[in-house]
Amino acid sequence: MASTPTAQAPKTNRIGLSVLDYRGGKTTLCAGCGHNAISERIIDAMYEMGVKPERVIKPSGIGCSSKSPAYFMSRSHSFNAVHGRMPSVATGALLANKKMMCIGVSGDGDTASIGIGQFLHLMRRNLPIIYVIEDNGVYGLTKGQFSATADIGSKLKNGVINDLPAIDTCALATMLGATFVGRSFSGDKKQLLAMLKAAIAHNGTAMLDVISPCVTFNDHEGSTKSYKFTKDHEEPLQEVTFVPYFEDISVDYDPGTTIDVSMHDGSRLRLRKLEETYDPTNKSEALKRMSEAHEKGDVLTGIFYINTKAPNFMEMLNMVDEPLATLPESVTRPSRQVLEECMQELR
Ligand code: SF4
Repeated sequence: MASTPTAQAPKTNRIGLSVLDYRGGKTTLCAGCGHNAISERIIDAMYEMGVKPERVIKPSGIGCSSKSPAYFMSRSHSFNAVHGRMPSVATGALLANKKMMCIGVSGDGDTASIGIGQFLHLMRRNLPIIYVIEDNGVYGLTKGQFSATADIGSKLKNGVINDLPAIDTCALATMLGATFVGRSFSGDKKQLLAMLKAAIAHNGTAMLDVISPCVTFNDHEGSTKSYKFTKDHEEPLQEVTFVPYFEDISVDYDPGTTIDVSMHDGSRLRLRKLEETYDPTNKSEALKRMSEAHEKGDVLTGIFYINTKAPNFMEMLNMVDEPLATLPESVTRPSRQVLEECMQELR
């Protein structure tokens, strides 16, 4: 009697989970929206890095982009914050439990308009967070008005021309002290996956601006955030490869044409230079290249700036080892005597 073929066991990562363990709910975004591709890459990066889903918090703001955390990692902790206020929620959550990993998702409207104040202060603090901007240049959820990252001269579907200059979130983040800044494109699977994996290994603020076309309101002739425009004008700064600390780091090394950046956990970020001069640890060069690309109308992608030496916000605050959220009341509650001493000092 012929034996019945048994189903093959799903492939698992180093902590024994399959990629299905990193999935979220079914997307309700428009078919073809760039944000769906970003969710897929986040799933792949977390799976390949073997991150425990229960260790991840994924706050977001308001907008189509900020709905995305519902579509990846349903076993993680999600919080949809007030418009533009995701950085405050992320900061509070990490201060309460510094053992968590945080990936915050925002949009160009959520970050560069209503949330710009929160964004600026987050970038200067070096909080250990991966901050993803799903950038399409319009407010998709409210029918496609220009956002503050829309390029001057770009056109809406109804013919309206944008006559205001764009805010470059990468330039701002670099100036203000973010220690990992890059730009990618939702349609560039390989580059975006490598950058997300490197961001997961980074100890500090990793800011990724991902051009993510809105197929419903901003994917036409005259848009500078459409699939066609981005594909035609993308200028990669380097080829990005990421090698986690748990993989063999000696493979595929080609001295003379690559820069290896050591991450704090022993992983390696390998940048194969497409040109001889670019050094991603040079902040002023990063700003110069962003400005030059902007003037030429190119979409420069890759890792613009990285600093793996700066202390993160938690280290600067000199917090106790045990997360505040799990400290017992006997430690967190001051005794009557301590309270009386405080009162005395204030009299
Ligand atoms: Fe995506 Fe635009 Fe649809 Fe919103 S309106 S889900 S941004 S394609």
